[in-house]
Amino acid sequence: MTAATDSVGPSLDALADAFATAHPAFATAPESLRFVRAPGRVNLIGEHTDYNDGLVLPAAVSLAIDLAFIPTDDRRVELSLLATGERGSFDLDAIGPRRGTWLDYVAGTAWALLEAGVPLRGFRGVLSSTIPAGAGLSSSAAIELASAWALSGGETPALQPMRLAQAAQRAENAYVGVLCGLMDQFAVTMGRAGHALRLDCRSLDWYPVALPAEVEIVVCHSSSPRRLEASAYNARRAECAAAVAAVAAREPAVTSLRDVDLTTLERSRERMGEIPYARAVHVISENARVIETEAALQAGDLEALRRLFAASHASLRDSFEVSSPELDALVGIASRTPGVVAARLTGAGFGGCTVNLVERGRSGALRDAVERDYPGLTGLIPRVFVVEAAAGTGLVRRPGAGA
Ligand code: ADP
Ligand code: MG
Repeated sequence: MTAATDSVGPSLDALADAFATAHPAFATAPESLRFVRAPGRVNLIGEHTDYNDGLVLPAAVSLAIDLAFIPTDDRRVELSLLATGERGSFDLDAIGPRRGTWLDYVAGTAWALLEAGVPLRGFRGVLSSTIPAGAGLSSSAAIELASAWALSGGETPALQPMRLAQAAQRAENAYVGVLCGLMDQFAVTMGRAGHALRLDCRSLDWYPVALPAEVEIVVCHSSSPRRLEASAYNARRAECAAAVAAVAAREPAVTSLRDVDLTTLERSRERMGEIPYARAVHVISENARVIETEAALQAGDLEALRRLFAASHASLRDSFEVSSPELDALVGIASRTPGVVAARLTGAGFGGCTVNLVERGRSGALRDAVERDYPGLTGLIPRVFVVEAAAGTGLVRRPGAGA
């Protein structure tokens, strides 16, 4: 059995050729063809903290959505997928309700941007992707942000970047109907090469954190379905809210778990029951681990990174209960592999991916170990992606295409 490895996307020339085939009437003006690239993201640490007013530390990565497009003046959006040839279209003046397909992420972004007063244009486009869909690497936010650029006629959308990220989040919350926090759209918008991004989800203050040159990021995809994800995600949100309500009954100034430390939590333990208590312990300790991870990255303290990732994974598995046998297997394999600095599940859990920090140049050993051991443990074929921390969404040029 061989496992799929890194996806290398089609070249922009190949995407341009696909555009000419999909939209022949527009291919007469190839000089007006533009390309926007929107990265996926991996969260280094700070899991299930974003909707608790907490801290997160994601990085945009070198897996990406590429969208080739020509802006039009007909208020019509027509888009096809390079992988399947599937097409979707809508009119900017009659976007209509959600359809239940991938086009919702484009139409929802148009809807949210129009609501925010951003002037939009139609476009014809072809979309390709190296981000596995539905794996917790934010392919959805990448489609939203790539669409925002195309809908803005190829100029930077006329919104402050944080407002843009919030508009994309609104597209996903209110149009698509997924109750995600801000982290994904934030990271896909603000990404910086070689850096993670520390975001305070209460104040929205953020800054880039340089990654140590001696580590690289390896993402292992469990290839397992995200079982019960939506209902379990909503249940976790409700359990966190129950913990807040129990503390607030004694301490009315408390409005979120961000206001609660472990001592305060302990005082209200009897009022909230064991499950909300365990969820709150995870969130409170995870916020502390974000702060410690930032310091460890700055100090290049690999031993601290190992300990912090392991503690985060254990807390997500035992207190927050969002791991899975497959994610535990991937972390187990990584923890036995020389050269692996740190490993934990990333994203909401219930399936999806793990994030690994690996000594630079030694990712081959992790790939080999995962490809060798994971199928026997789970019956599934993993996918291993060695990624770099990448820039956020923006226009890209074809090499040699001139200024
Ligand atoms: P994630 O954002 O973690 O990848 P989501 O469930 O939020 O997972 O988003 C996945 C959805 O995004 C897919 O179901 C599909 O509708 C859309 N999507 C992602 N990538 C593509 C793609 N390459 N082509 C078409 N649709 C895609
Ligand atoms: Mg998503």
